[in-house]
Formats: sequence, C-alpha cells, structure tokens
Amino acid sequence: MGIAAERRASSVSQIVLKIGSLSGIEEQLLRSAYPIAASGAVAAHAELTIERTAIVLHCEQCKRETRLRVNRLRCAHCGDYRTRLISGDEMVLQRLELENANPLSDTGQGSKSAKGR
Ligand SMILES: [Zn+2]
Repeated sequence: MGIAAERRASSVSQIVLKIGSLSGIEEQLLRSAYPIAASGAVAAHAELTIERTAIVLHCEQCKRETRLRVNRLRCAHCGDYRTRLISGDEMVLQRLELENANPLSDTGQGSKSAKGR
C-alpha cells in the first residue's frame, strides 16, 4: 500500500473498487480473497466497497455512445457492430480513505488521580 505509506496514514478505512462488468473479475471471489490479501497490511481493517461500472460502447458509425448491461455489443442507436469498448472491462481503485490514528504513547498509563478535595 504505497499510497498509505506516502501519506503516513496508519490505516486505511475504506477501499472503493470499480469493476467493469466485462472485466471477468468475480466480485464474490474478490470479496473472499480480500481479507487474506489485506491481512497484516495497513488496509487490514478497511471496508471494501465494490462498484460495478456500466459497459459503454462508442460507435464508429454514428459516433454515439451506448450503455449496456448485458453482453450485446452493438450500438443501440444505429445497430452497428463496429463499436469500441470505452468502459466495462476495467478494475479501478476508485477511492482510498485514510485514517490517522493517534500515537500509541498515551495508552497504558491511565492513572489519573481522582482526588477529591
Ligand atoms: Zn451507432
């Protein structure tokens, strides 16, 4: 976790991943693998949020964009198949929330004398 180290964060509280529907990444697999990958790291206690991105095509014919949810890779406007995939196969680290914990030097010595008058 180079980002966290650079910013001197002691822990990462949230990780937001964006995964394209065509990326071939199984969300469930990622979720089950994540705690193993993060264990012992600065992100061990981070909350993992996974967002799905839409499949976006750019049509070479009419130059318009089509958003898809299923694997029907044709332009919705003119029906042409000569399209270019703009979005849908990516995995992006969208956001990383960092936490700066207090230094640990104060812990362990809780002997505040509760003297009355
Ligand atoms: Zn088109």
